[in-house]
Amino acid sequence: MLNIDLHSHSTVSDGLLSPEDLVQRAASRGVQVLAVTDHDDIGGLARARQAAIRHGVHLINGVEISVSWSSQTLHIVGLRIDPKSPPLLQGLEVIRSSRAARAQGIAADLDKSGIPGSLAGASRYAGNPNLIGRAHFARYLVERGYAGDVKSIFRKYLNRGKPGYVEHRWVTLADAVSWIRNSGGIAVMAHPGRYSISTVQMRQLLAEFRELGGAALEVVTGSHTPEQYAIFARYAKQFDLFASVGSDYHGPGESYRDIGQLPELPEGCQPVWQQWSDLTASFSARVNT
Ligand code: AMP
Ligand code: MN
Ligand code: MN
Ligand code: MN
Repeated sequence: MLNIDLHSHSTVSDGLLSPEDLVQRAASRGVQVLAVTDHDDIGGLARARQAAIRHGVHLINGVEISVSWSSQTLHIVGLRIDPKSPPLLQGLEVIRSSRAARAQGIAADLDKSGIPGSLAGASRYAGNPNLIGRAHFARYLVERGYAGDVKSIFRKYLNRGKPGYVEHRWVTLADAVSWIRNSGGIAVMAHPGRYSISTVQMRQLLAEFRELGGAALEVVTGSHTPEQYAIFARYAKQFDLFASVGSDYHGPGESYRDIGQLPELPEGCQPVWQQWSDLTASFSARVNT
């Protein structure tokens, strides 16, 4: 069995490990093929690649793009993207600067709720000064004792409807998919089980995603239950999408699953890597099973 993990984060976004340490951990857990997919930034890929060469890991260039669709935030993972593609780089730059503006809004809201200094505090947790996210705020709020862990902070302060939540307009699904495709990459709908949408909306979303050139659905991922593996395997089949596997690892103590510790895709899925002939050729014939 090929150990493949196509969704992970480093300190270039909101992961806890540097790109080098992330790759090292993946190697030590037996991962053979790893995609580093930082939120809205590809600045860690060159560093990850150097480490991947040292550790004998096959690195896939990835990214996870923040999208707004019908009042929901969605995440689209791009795999095998070209990190030098100008439209992709420009698009990600726009998202990062909008994150900076949102961070000021989050800090202002928290300030009104009696929590001062959170922008400076969160910035200390951001490994990349150009990429600030809610996870950095969450870590600072844990440090200040507003709750015992990051998950509880999200529940109390950072989820929609809570005092530190700021409505934000990310980029469109069409833009994200086109930047990924124009750079030669594959667009994957990340963790579909996490979106609070009805079955009808899920069907609309997947139809639209497919229409725009989206190619795969993340069926097995850290936040999905085994029931959700089966549900999204059926959706993938129905909408003629490839299936992907990724832990969405963010670092020790902050993830549902360790890197590379996921079950296999359910029977009947078409693995997204099946079409990557260079990769399948360099691993055993069992890759396609
Ligand atoms: P952002 O893109 O800045 O809105 O932050 C989204 C990130 O916050 C996700 O990728 C996770 O890393 C983290 N996150 C979101 N919800 C939770 C949660 N309930 N518990 C822990 N981390 C979360
Ligand atoms: Mn994250
Ligand atoms: Mn995500
Ligand atoms: Mn992720």
